[in-house]
Amino acid sequence: MGNSERNENKRVKHALDRAGICSQFECMPEQPEKWPRGAAWTLTHAHDAGQVAGIRCARCNVTRYYKPAEQREVIGNVTIDEVREKVRCQKCGSREWMGAELFHPTGEQAHTIRYRRLVQIRWEKRVIWRDE
Ligand SMILES: [Zn+2]
Repeated sequence: MGNSERNENKRVKHALDRAGICSQFECMPEQPEKWPRGAAWTLTHAHDAGQVAGIRCARCNVTRYYKPAEQREVIGNVTIDEVREKVRCQKCGSREWMGAELFHPTGEQAHTIRYRRLVQIRWEKRVIWRDE
């Protein structure tokens, strides 16, 4: 493969760009802001991008930080909006005050954030009786 092939590719790409056909490839995102509208940014994407999930109870004024991959273990590969709908505050038990967002930690944050880590998912035995 020589120069001629590379030039060929370049010319094709340029032509596509001008026609606008290539735009969806051009947008391959690293930041959620650049993610095409309509495509769900899930916890897997967040994990791959190195994001942190911050979940906050505005009533208790407590924010806890989670690793997206561990949240995925618990509630599935959903969007952060769905996370917000599902979580409740461990302190006050409320759902209504919850906020959830994904963000890229700054260099300093990366060292200082204390994560709430997933220790275990325990399936407890429940016994259900029925009178017949
Ligand atoms: Zn709370």
